[in-house]
Amino acid sequence: MAIVKPVLAANWKMNKGPAATAEFFADFLARHQPADDRTLVFFPPALSFAAAREATAGRPDIRLGVQNIHWERSGAFTGEISAPMAAEAGAEFVLVGHSERRHLFGETSEETARKVAAALAAGLVPVLCVGETLDERRAGRAEATVREQLDAVLGTYPADRTDSLVIAYEPVWAIGTGETATPQDAAAMHAAIRAQLAEAFGAERAAEVPVLYGGSVKPDNVAELLAAANVDGVLVGGASLDPSGHAAICAPG
Ligand code: PEP
Repeated sequence: MAIVKPVLAANWKMNKGPAATAEFFADFLARHQPADDRTLVFFPPALSFAAAREATAGRPDIRLGVQNIHWERSGAFTGEISAPMAAEAGAEFVLVGHSERRHLFGETSEETARKVAAALAAGLVPVLCVGETLDERRAGRAEATVREQLDAVLGTYPADRTDSLVIAYEPVWAIGTGETATPQDAAAMHAAIRAQLAEAFGAERAAEVPVLYGGSVKPDNVAELLAAANVDGVLVGGASLDPSGHAAICAPG
């Protein structure tokens, strides 16, 4: 299915079991009417995925993804899930390289590249998360860090699959901290990302790839972030856990 911009994505992280997932959607779906001018994606925990699928049956405007995959299809990888399994369960998207995976679980850029390839092979859309730490920003290395993280994936990404790629710029210092990049900061980094996509795929294909902003997005700052140049959507963590707040974030502007 096509990805219509803006993309409004919800990363629930390790929050909401199956019962809380069903409760969330009962409330959220009553508040949010289907709209074909945007794409809504939810990333519940893997154990709540079936509950999310059941709760959103009959609402094709609500699309689902998983928060992580292993790059192998199957095997002795205790605790992991694979891309084909996620696709079979009904996932269309997968987060790859979220900063919590990179910084808390030691995921490397080489691993993100393998996960992106596995996602594509299984027909999942990878949402590749990139972003600098505060130290990297203070050292003037924000753009270089993001460039390296993107390079690791774009070097081998097939140019004819740009319709199946989403990038999320999430400055690590803005995730879960209440600090948000200014729309100007976001626009500057998004322009750099778009330029790098154009180097890899050409300007026309680069323009197709939604580049989302993430980091303390809330109902009261989403409009100004979405209005920034090259910002094609948002990836929302904490604020997406509340059905009324998230419905406000997803409401047509
Ligand atoms: C995230 O986890 O992707 C995120 C952006 O979190 P928060 O909105 O809570 O900063």
